[in-house]
Amino acid sequence: MKTKIIKIDPLKEIEISLPSNILKRGGLVAFPTETVYGLGAYAFNEESVRRIFEVKGRAQDNPLIIHVSEFKMMQEIGIVPEKYEKVIQKLTPGPITFVLKKRKNIPKVVTAGLNTVGVRIPAHPVANKLCKETGPIAAPSANLSGKPSPTDAKAVIEDLNGKIDCIIDSGSTPFGLESTIIDLSGDKPLILRPGPITVEELKEIFGEIEIPDFIIKGAHVKTPKAPGMKYKHYAPDKPLFMFFKDDREKIIKILERENGVVICPKENVRYYPENRVIVIGMLEKPYSIAQNLFRVLRSFDKSEFDVGYIEAFEESGILFSVMNRLKKAATIWR
Ligand code: AMP
Ligand code: MG
Repeated sequence: MKTKIIKIDPLKEIEISLPSNILKRGGLVAFPTETVYGLGAYAFNEESVRRIFEVKGRAQDNPLIIHVSEFKMMQEIGIVPEKYEKVIQKLTPGPITFVLKKRKNIPKVVTAGLNTVGVRIPAHPVANKLCKETGPIAAPSANLSGKPSPTDAKAVIEDLNGKIDCIIDSGSTPFGLESTIIDLSGDKPLILRPGPITVEELKEIFGEIEIPDFIIKGAHVKTPKAPGMKYKHYAPDKPLFMFFKDDREKIIKILERENGVVICPKENVRYYPENRVIVIGMLEKPYSIAQNLFRVLRSFDKSEFDVGYIEAFEESGILFSVMNRLKKAATIWR
């Protein structure tokens, strides 16, 4: 299949009819959002949604998020509890997904058979306009399953060129980390995935909120609440280790012998041999670390180095969400 690659500048007037028509006719389109690139199908076309799973090599029991352009469309996909209407409207559009009890007409293939559905209103002007013109779009991240999520069109092309109908290239995604997921279908709000909207912010907004154990530990769980949680994720092909400050000296000693490279924030580059460091952003601007994370993991895979050692981060704010991804992508050293 020949994949159409089209450039759309999100800051100029957005002409979306071509990719929107592809979706309406049952095709697959990769598009930018403010989190990562998504691989979209029209949510009510079961055949197209099924192709998303095929193309990505994604397990059938891992549900997709439905993307919509506005709150009214969200209410047509899931049942929004009245007590949460105001907060949802305050947090949207934005990098946060709400798990709601699903409406009857949502295809089973989208929700992996669950009676709940994940819904998000993206703020990215290209994604939002695509949903507005097309209607609800089911979309996971536009990478092959298990690979680091794509934060630019180059990464999407690497994984999916020739396998889907169209890729929209709008440059790098602003947050670079998948959406925060919060489950509002039960008695208490429950955080299913930390993301750009931080746990601290959620606590302030929702007051009482549950953070399950698997998020704090970041371990793979066997019978997960959200099926996505049991799969290996975000990992480069080469071995990647995460280490803590106390082990810095030991890591420096083995770097040369193992042809290793350290991935660290700019502030800490000075500790390492200058030809064996990849910079991942600045501690002073923690969102820059989230933004660069997946791109750096992909570039490490393509580098001349054989083993990666990434510094662990302090688990607060956006770096708590970064650490959640790293615990799945890397093996803890020692
Ligand atoms: P991705 O877009 O590739 O990050 O995948 C979407 C993720 O959203 C899945 O891996 C699930 O963890 C989560 N998700 C989507 N729908 C639901 C749902 N109904 N219940 C719980 N988690 C969900
Ligand atoms: Mg994904």
